[in-house]
Amino acid sequence: MTAIDSFLEKSAGYVLASFQSRDAFLAAISGAVRAVTDVQSQTGWLFLLTSLFIGLIIYVVERRTGSAGPVSIAKFLFPREIYLHRSAIVDYKFVAIDLTIKLVVYTPLITGFSMLVYRAATASFAGLSLPAPLVGMLSGTIAVPILAVVAADFGAFLAHYLMHRIPFLWYFHEVHHSAEVLTPVTVYRTHPVNSLVNAVVAAFISGIGAAFTPRPPGARSICQRCSGST
Ligand SMILES: [Zn+2]
Repeated sequence: MTAIDSFLEKSAGYVLASFQSRDAFLAAISGAVRAVTDVQSQTGWLFLLTSLFIGLIIYVVERRTGSAGPVSIAKFLFPREIYLHRSAIVDYKFVAIDLTIKLVVYTPLITGFSMLVYRAATASFAGLSLPAPLVGMLSGTIAVPILAVVAADFGAFLAHYLMHRIPFLWYFHEVHHSAEVLTPVTVYRTHPVNSLVNAVVAAFISGIGAAFTPRPPGARSICQRCSGST
């Protein structure tokens, strides 16, 4: 079996992982709750509460200066013409698409693909070694999560950059920039191909980043569970 055949076979396995059993499917779908409970989520409770707090401050200031007019606090924070706008209603439909396709297919794919890239990069660059002082610096308990965040953020930047620069990708990405009004869930207004490009680029950059992150003494891999055969 060629490397490409092996890669395609494993990728297909990752795509279908959530459909292997009822429990696997329910576990994948239950991740939708994390859209609100996860503080890293762009619709997480902390993000929403912070936005609400900022909105309250603006309301108080505008009422004092008279620029808000005689509007109630509920109508100021949740204007009907915005939240029931046809553009916002399209966004609500995107939420359903995004939370199902992404959780059931993309999350297992990105995790598996990231591991494949990590193992390929580790094997390819096995002969390379960083200078000892650099290894000491990079393998610190603070440096490793910082490197992981920088790699993930760079992956997000690169995917976004490519989608703006490559006409074929822009065709899918322009959906994200077509909103007529903005609400907290407009962030989910992404074409499934857009989300797939994000996932693949993020997995690729994270895999490369993990391969270059020095392992603590005695550790087999940065991810013991992932260092098996798949
Ligand atoms: Zn953009």
